[in-house]
Amino acid sequence: MKDYYEILGVPEDASVDDIKRKYRELVKQFHPDLNKGDEEAAKRMAEINEAYQVLTDPKKRAEYDAMRKGGVNFGSGSDYYRPGQGFDFFDSIFRDFFTDFPFGSTIFNRNTATQAKPKGSDINLEVTLSLKDVITGTTKSLQFSRAELCEDCHGTGAKDGRVKTCDRCHGTGVIENRQTTPFGVFVSQTECPVCHGTGKVPEETCPTCRGAGVVRKQRTLGLQIPPGVDNNDVITLKGQGNAVKDGVSGDINVTIKVLIPQGWRRKGTHLYTEVHVPYYHAILGGKVKVNTATGEEKELLLEAGTQPDQEYILANEGVPDKNGRYRGDLHVTIKVDMPSKLTPQERKYLEEIKKLHENDNNKKKFGFFN
Ligand SMILES: [Zn+2]
Ligand SMILES: [Zn+2]
Repeated sequence: MKDYYEILGVPEDASVDDIKRKYRELVKQFHPDLNKGDEEAAKRMAEINEAYQVLTDPKKRAEYDAMRKGGVNFGSGSDYYRPGQGFDFFDSIFRDFFTDFPFGSTIFNRNTATQAKPKGSDINLEVTLSLKDVITGTTKSLQFSRAELCEDCHGTGAKDGRVKTCDRCHGTGVIENRQTTPFGVFVSQTECPVCHGTGKVPEETCPTCRGAGVVRKQRTLGLQIPPGVDNNDVITLKGQGNAVKDGVSGDINVTIKVLIPQGWRRKGTHLYTEVHVPYYHAILGGKVKVNTATGEEKELLLEAGTQPDQEYILANEGVPDKNGRYRGDLHVTIKVDMPSKLTPQERKYLEEIKKLHENDNNKKKFGFFN
């Protein structure tokens, strides 16, 4: 646990006036303007500000004193306060501390100088596949424009790759901002806007990319699509997206759209379609032709007395699963077409069939009553 009394060099019973007097002395000593580029001094100043904030606030000071007497250690090895470990009331000092104290922002700004490399943007593409493409797998040609590292300067933006130390930040990549407030002087570090944190600038700007380090190129790429993909599946090509200076390239995301023909449905690896047959064909049974999703013609043998919407299955004529372990089926629903008009001859035969059934029924009824 940090000893704020020791940091400020005041006794435990120091009055607020004593603390303020001592603080002003320390500010004169560790003022960042008087200690340019001195990390230690900046760190020291941060500690002094922190201690001053707590000890001049009666409520925070009382909480701190209670904590201190309890002998609990709070991350004394770290530069800044590590809140937590379950002591809510002490934690609360620091929540307040960071919200109402401008120095809190300094701590976060320091991190921006060491943040992760910038990432180029992703390129989002879409390909449309037929069911046949999905069943067999396919290769699609993708055309797009993307930012690529400039070959002439190897992405540095500098003519012939020649760079020099940035004048603005003297090669440190960060700019210190000093702010004088009633609490003292606060130092915050932000990324140098001239060299974007690299500490280097071109001796002369690369004429090809005008210093951007990247140029746009028109590209065509063959994308191999495995069998079994589904609508809205996304294939990601890592690092194939837009390049960015001093960073890593984005990705290419290819969204799959599957075109399902009219009268077809897909559910996972299973396909569903319909076949229309005349009523007498359904009644008598016989062969019907079915076009599969790959365009092949298959024969289906209808049993006599096939009912409307009866389903037949053509095994393994569906879509393969993504691991290629099996293939789903093609489910064929039989749609029975009823005639809306009859020829005189058809009518004659159907009337006879009707009579046949009526006689049948009369016999049954007769039998029943006896
Ligand atoms: Zn710079
Ligand atoms: Zn260039």
